[in-house]
Amino acid sequence: MTVGPSGANSDVANFYNGSGKVRVAGKIRDRWGGNLHNGYWHDEDDDASPEVATDRLTDLMIERLAPQAGQRVLDIGCGIGKPAARLLRGHPVDVVGITISESQVAQARAGAAEAGLADRATFEYADAQQMPFPDDSFDAAWALESMFHIPDRNRALAETARVLRPKSRLVIADFVLRGPISEDGLQAVQRICETFGVHTIGPLDDYLAQLASHGFTGPDVLDISDNVARTGNLLADAWEDVRGQLEENGNSDHVDALITATRDFSNTPEFGYVLVSTTLG
Ligand code: SAH
Repeated sequence: MTVGPSGANSDVANFYNGSGKVRVAGKIRDRWGGNLHNGYWHDEDDDASPEVATDRLTDLMIERLAPQAGQRVLDIGCGIGKPAARLLRGHPVDVVGITISESQVAQARAGAAEAGLADRATFEYADAQQMPFPDDSFDAAWALESMFHIPDRNRALAETARVLRPKSRLVIADFVLRGPISEDGLQAVQRICETFGVHTIGPLDDYLAQLASHGFTGPDVLDISDNVARTGNLLADAWEDVRGQLEENGNSDHVDALITATRDFSNTPEFGYVLVSTTLG
């Protein structure tokens, strides 16, 4: 793990800029759509495509954020801006998205311009551990699969609390470690973390205590581990389909490791997934 001067992780930025060990960025966009997050399936019989299932997860976030007209929403780890666009289409709010990938900033801006949303969507290169915003400058925030990348979650939550106005909602979609933890399970968790730049994962109770220590109250937790688990196998199938392209830029051992860790995600109950909704103050 390399921590840059601002505390951002170069491995995470490389992963999303497409300059990591295996150049994954953009390779499966046609299949997966622009959402860089898990899908949500109601049950085993649900045959929704990844594109539909990932939008569903965004919709769960929107529902829990319950944004009000005129609010300014902070999108922590905005990816290429697809979740923000979905939020903006249904709600008269403004969104400011931050990411530590320059290439994502460019893609998110272009996407918003193309969708006619550029007047309400701003995307910036910024580290959540050190946000370039004044105190009390947002009315709501979400972090959709970004917190786990951040080496110092404590600092990111302190920053989030600082830039939010009192009574703001914060909704997080994140990984948690679930017991009982077997030795194989722990090894699989380690493989997933290494492959996907997961720097912070731990038990839910620690997470909730950390949120409380920054003034976030009334946490509502939804464990959707079973609903998202299919993502790993589907994504691994997609990697297999583009294996040839992946091997052009990385060696086949790295591609094998990527595929194994991606399947681990579907088969490791220790690797849990929750939505946490809270209010500041
Ligand atoms: N929320 C988006 C993207 C999820 S991928 C979506 O659901 O589509 C994870 C995102 O977190 C990427 O955009 C990555 O650049 C961002 N990220 C990782 N570490 C970060 C940090 N320290 N500060 C800000 N963003 C970060």
